Order: sequence, then structure tokens, then C-alpha cells
Amino acid sequence: MIVGIDLGTTHSLIGYYSPDGPRLIPNALGSVLTPSVVAIDDQKRLLVGEAARDKLAIEPACGAGTFKRFMGTDRQILIGNQAYRAEELSAMVLRALVTDAEAHLGTPIKEAVISVPAYFSDAQRKATRAAGELAGLKVERLINEPTAAALAYGLQEKKDEATFLVFDLGGGTFDVSILEVFDGVMQVHATCGDNHLGGEDFLQALLEDVCSQWNLRLQDLPASLRAQLASRVERAKRQLSLSASATIEMKIEGRDLTWNIDEPHFAKIVDPLIQRLRQPIERALRDARLDPQQLDEIVLVGGASRMPLVSRLVARMLGRLPLRHINPDEAVAVGAAVAAGMKARDERLEEVVLTDVSPYTLGVATARLESTGRQAGGYFAPLIERNSTVPVSRVERFWPLTDMQTELRLEVYQGESPMVANNIRLGQLLLKLPPRPVQENPVDVRFTYDVNGVLQVEVSVISTGERHELFLEQNPGTLSQTEIAARFAALSAIKTHPREDLANIALMARAERLYAEHLGDARRYVQDLLARYLEVLESQNLQMIARARQQLISALDEFEGSNH
Ligand code: ADP
Ligand code: MG
Repeated sequence: MIVGIDLGTTHSLIGYYSPDGPRLIPNALGSVLTPSVVAIDDQKRLLVGEAARDKLAIEPACGAGTFKRFMGTDRQILIGNQAYRAEELSAMVLRALVTDAEAHLGTPIKEAVISVPAYFSDAQRKATRAAGELAGLKVERLINEPTAAALAYGLQEKKDEATFLVFDLGGGTFDVSILEVFDGVMQVHATCGDNHLGGEDFLQALLEDVCSQWNLRLQDLPASLRAQLASRVERAKRQLSLSASATIEMKIEGRDLTWNIDEPHFAKIVDPLIQRLRQPIERALRDARLDPQQLDEIVLVGGASRMPLVSRLVARMLGRLPLRHINPDEAVAVGAAVAAGMKARDERLEEVVLTDVSPYTLGVATARLESTGRQAGGYFAPLIERNSTVPVSRVERFWPLTDMQTELRLEVYQGESPMVANNIRLGQLLLKLPPRPVQENPVDVRFTYDVNGVLQVEVSVISTGERHELFLEQNPGTLSQTEIAARFAALSAIKTHPREDLANIALMARAERLYAEHLGDARRYVQDLLARYLEVLESQNLQMIARARQQLISALDEFEGSNH
């Protein structure tokens, strides 16, 4: 059994291809959305998902969220006094999802297709694979998130021919892809995006607004108050997707504070973010050589696309209303489940062929001869241009700069600037050359970019026939196989709770968060509810406990609904 996983910045989902088509799997709390948050609780056990998110809201140091942003970097994330890398925290989320799937399907799961933002770099993709390995999974394929979303729509629509634009604005990343479906073939024509733009940035803009109105500095607040404020502002942000205004009241340092925001003001403070959505859309259309009128469907996915400001911008730019009939939170995971079915060679998917593109240009640094005869370095020489269909392999011949040069440094870059200084450096290869005149000393550089978006660089010295390969794994931001093995052992030693206790733990964490967020009568009410529930728990009567739990959930839902 291969599963499909959407490992998101804020939420993660797992699904599989069932005899009735793609299906998402609920977690122990019955939800298909698991917050990508981990925490270590008082008993030194790992919590993942809603319980962890609620714990973090009162005690931010006990866990971490939004770590997808640090994939492919060396960033250390502290939980208690233990430092983790983003891969490890992602592995904890993956492990929790797989445990849910194993419980649901009754079979061990060892293989997965994992979705990544189309715009993820080589190092970020490798980190995602490493996270899979750390969770004990063989990652059969990485699929680009907008491609997965289009796969979900494309299959559902069963149109013979259509051109889609998929717009995916998640918690931390933004992707736009243009795809064409014909005769069961899904071909991606172009993908563009921004790896550092998502709903979290809108939250940040709102937080800054609150702080400036309340005359506070966010970094001066104690961490728990900061987390509480962030969770209130997040709720206000979502409220703004439903109604014209939102209000927050809070007591901070003895002051009673109120913040009110309406749509025009929201539009004003997030305008710089909204403007950043334009360029990737324009670029994707240009690379696909299409006018907006040639698009048949526009598909919005990602939770942040629920903001009316966002869908309005898309509608205005593309001249029509976007589709939204697959839940925007679920489309990527549904597509990953379809891709898992394709990988498992499910016969109902045999006819479907999927082709994808490389989202960015890949090349090397070169020098140019200036008119004065001086050599000027730092220019970018592309080998694989963005939006080339993958897999793709290209060779280019280069010569050293001077006669009798015995060493050549090949620097590999990704990006769209003519100067390498503005692009992302992926790695370098130093190789020995035989001492010869320039013209007799060429090297062939081959770039191969596979369907998973992983780049391989190979250099041959023509005069000697010597070959060199660049292993980009050696980047500082990427773990080696030995490090992965060591960390795998360490992660496996972290204890978790029995699955049957998880719903209860999450419910307690939620009640405790609500207690911490409120004062006076409101918190006393939450405490009463909690006390009554604890009393029933003592009875050990399973039926009564189940009933009491449902009652507590409804009471907390109602309490939160009327208290934001
Ligand atoms: P990811 O795939 O990165 O985990 P999601 O697609 O789950 O992201 O989207 C999460 C983002 O969507 C968060 O920033 C969240 O605040 C935002 N979001 C979710 N629902 C809403 C809503 N109703 N209105 C505005 N933003 C929302
Ligand atoms: Mg997503």
C-alpha cells in the first residue's frame, strides 16, 4: 500500500487510492486535517497535531510549528532544551499521519508519495525525502503541490481537453501552475511561485497592526502572551473571510485593549502581499504562452485562498470566477493519493500520464570577456531553463579562462537573474585539468533534472575522458545518509501516547488553552466544564465517557464560537 501525503506548513493530510477512488484518512480525532505542529508534553511524550497546537498556545517553548519554512536549511529549532532540524520535526508529523493510516487501513505502511511546493529548491526537496526516511518511509515520489491539485481536479472533471490554472496559497508558500489535460495526459506547462509568501505573512501584517495600535512591541511580550495574541489574530483573520470586520479584546499588562479591523483597512495593510501574487501569475501565463482567455478553469487551493481579497485579485487578473468545488484544504492531498495510486499501478489509473516541469532555471557561473579584454566573472549561464518538461538532460561545453590552467571551479546556481550573485548557489565542483591551451581543454557539463525535481550534475574533461559528479547532498543544509541513520535512531526512541488516549489528550489541551486565554466568568465556565468531564472520566464507564466527551466538545465549540 502506497499512501499520498500533503506535508503542509500549517496542516498535513494523508490519503490512499481506494477501489472507489482517492480517499483521505481521518486522524485519531476524526479529522482529515492534522496541524503540522509538534510538542513534547509534561510526560516527555510526543504530541502531534491539534493537541500540540493547543499546548503551544499556552507554552510556546514546548513545541514548534511552521517548520516547513526551514526545510533545506541548517536552522536548529528548540523544543525544551533539545534542538531539532526541520526534517526531524516533519518526520514526527509524517510518523503520526502514517500511524493514523495504519490504524485505519489495518496494514503496515512503508511507501509514500509526498507533495512539495513546486517552487521548492533542490535542498528543500532533499530535506523532504530525508524527513520521509526519518519517518521510516520509502519516498516513492515527490509530486509538486499544484500538479497534485490539478490531478485531483483533472480526474474529477473527466474533461477530454482543458487548460487549468491552479493557484495555491498555503500557510507559507505560493505556487501557480498551468496545466493541460488531453486524452488522459496531464501536462504541466508552467509553474511559478514564491517560497516565502503565504497566509502566515498576512497574519504577521495583522499582528503588526494590532501592536502599533496598542503601542506594544511584539518581541517585548512574554512568549505565552505573544502566542495567545497570535491565535486571536489568526481567528480574526479567518473571521474577515466571512464578515466585513473582526474585533479582538485582550487584557495586557493591566490595560483593557480593543482592536477592530474592517475590510478596507485589512486591504490596505496587506496590499504589498496581494501585489506579490501578481508576478508569478503573469510569469506562468507568459511561460505557457497563453492569454488569460485561453484558460478553461481557474482552481483555487490552499487555506489562504479563502480570503476574498485573494480570490478577487485572481478573478480580476484572469477575468473570471475561480472554481472551488474540491475543498481547498484537501485538493493537494487528494491529488497525492491519486499519484500514489499511479505509483502502485492501479489499473484504473493506467491510462493517466502526467508530465511536469522544472520550476526554475538551473545553470553555472561563467566569465565573459569584456571589450577591454578583461575577464569579468559572475555571469549566469543557464543549462536547464525554467518550465522545461522533466525529466530533462542538457549538455553544454565550457572552456577554462587561461592557457595551462590546472584547476576549474564549477559553481551551480538556480534562479532567474543574469548575475549569479542574485541567484541561489546550489554547490560547487573543483576539478583538475591537464595543463593545455584553452582551446584544447574543454569540459562538457551535463545537468539532469528528474521527475522528482532532483538535480544531478556531471562534468567530463574531454581531453582525458575523466568524469566527475557533483553530489549536491554535501550542501550544509542537507543531511548525509549517516546523519539520517543516527537521527532515525534518536527519533525512534521518542515515546508517544497510546492512540486510544489521543482524543482525550487533545480535548484537555483545548480546554486548558481556552482557560488560559480567558479571564473571570469565562474561564470559570471552562473550568466547570472540565471538572465535570474529569469526574465522568473517573467513572471508567466507556459509554458515559463517550457521551460526556461529545458534550464537552459541543460546549467548547459553542464557547469558542461566541468568544472570538
Ligand atoms: P499549508 O498547505 O501550507 O499547510 P493550508 O492550505 O492549510 O496551508 O493553508 C493554511 C493557511 O490558510 C494559514 O495561513 C491559514 O491562516 C489560512 N486560512 C485557512 N482558512 C482561512 C480562512 N477561512 N480565511 C483566511 N485564511 C485562512
Ligand atoms: Mg498546502
